[in-house]
Amino acid sequence: MKVINNISEITSYLNGFISTGKKIGFVPTMGALHFGHLTLVNISKEQNDITVVSIFVNPTQFNDKQDFEKYPRNTEEDLKKLSETGCDLVFMPNEKEMYPEKEFKKFNLGKIEEVMEGRFRPGHFQGVAIIVNKLFEIVKPNNAYFGQKDFQQLAIIKRLVIITNSTVNIISCPIIRESNGLAMSSRNSRLSKTEFDNASIIYSTIKQLSDFIENNKFSEFKSWALNNINANNLFKTEYIEIVDSKNLEIVTNLKNHESITCCIAVFCGQVRLIDNIQINL
Ligand code: AMP
Repeated sequence: MKVINNISEITSYLNGFISTGKKIGFVPTMGALHFGHLTLVNISKEQNDITVVSIFVNPTQFNDKQDFEKYPRNTEEDLKKLSETGCDLVFMPNEKEMYPEKEFKKFNLGKIEEVMEGRFRPGHFQGVAIIVNKLFEIVKPNNAYFGQKDFQQLAIIKRLVIITNSTVNIISCPIIRESNGLAMSSRNSRLSKTEFDNASIIYSTIKQLSDFIENNKFSEFKSWALNNINANNLFKTEYIEIVDSKNLEIVTNLKNHESITCCIAVFCGQVRLIDNIQINL
């Protein structure tokens, strides 16, 4: 497995593959890798000739400085896991390489930027769009792999490729969970054992949306779910929203929707956990 830190080196290395028509699969990450990330790598390996993983904790997508500073970093372990998974190339640039100067580019991400994560983390998706656009220009992948765990981010990336006329094919990959149902996340490493065990309540709660729908109690779900989670004093729900899976518009009744997604963000102390569940109607 090759590890490259600078743009000029990765460009000339990958040009060799591109000129021979080899297919490049790309998995952008912020490191502190877990089995969810490695699943994306495995899917990419099956579908491409070469798989590139980037590790870069992107400062422009953090609206909270403390969250950026406390974000887990574990390069040595990450490289070991990637090598064992059979990743071909890791791109690990530093901040100066990716941001030689302050970045002001603004993407027109439309209304999907304004709800849920966008509302509670102002500027977050502009930061995501800036870095993913840069990485796509550097790696020039045929296929790029993103997890449904970050459901809204996936919608933003799909919009990004449209507005930038990019030819990158965006592949959406299923959420990988711990055995207690908690969605795997780099941030889970900041939870205590008790918090980790209790955090199963997030998924077990949103999973009940389908029962509420079956029992014609859709309109009662959100407040029930909020109370159910907040009753445990380890947790404070930041938002719970039910949106149309395609355009992310808030769903107030189920008519005229093919698929809905319930998205949630919950604080456990200072650790912010997100999850979602999609229901096809
Ligand atoms: P991150 O390092 O958190 O930026 O995540 C890098 C990629 O891995 C993103 O596309 C995430 O959606 C994806 N990812 C993170 N956690 C999971 C998970 N539990 N299941 C599936 N994909 C995930």
